[in-house]
Amino acid sequence: MRLIPKLIREVMKNIVRKPATLQYPKVATKVAKGFRGKLEWIADKCIGCGLCAMDCPSGAIELIPINVSTTEKPEYRRLPVFHYYRCIFCYQCVESCPTKAILPSTVYDLSSYDKENLIRKPSDEEKSIILKKFKKGGGKK
Ligand code: SF4
Ligand code: SF4
Repeated sequence: MRLIPKLIREVMKNIVRKPATLQYPKVATKVAKGFRGKLEWIADKCIGCGLCAMDCPSGAIELIPINVSTTEKPEYRRLPVFHYYRCIFCYQCVESCPTKAILPSTVYDLSSYDKENLIRKPSDEEKSIILKKFKKGGGKK
């Protein structure tokens, strides 16, 4: 019989208590200091050296020839493409990049039904940045 008052007390306590769960994705979860999230690539800083791809232990970075031309005449430059679905967030690429073109972030919501959404290719805007830079002699062909 002592169980009923105990249960009532417990119910009353929980009625006024804030929920322990978070309203994710409505409310973003705070991440711990030093959390390793999605990598950011800064086109302007990339020299296409390929060290990131060479050092990546999980094959998440591919250095592939990409047409960066804005005219009909193609101009290919070897640039990194990130396969986030293979990334183990070791951040070796951040360490290896000699120009700090790969930056850490705390972005963690990477899940997707479509694998294509987890492949980071240079955008058209980034391609024109690369083109301008290479024309000035700032990278490898
Ligand atoms: S964080 Fe590690 S696994 Fe991910 S792309 Fe960089 S080197 Fe590869
Ligand atoms: S991101 Fe850095 S390491 Fe990778 S190709 Fe560009 S400059 Fe080289």
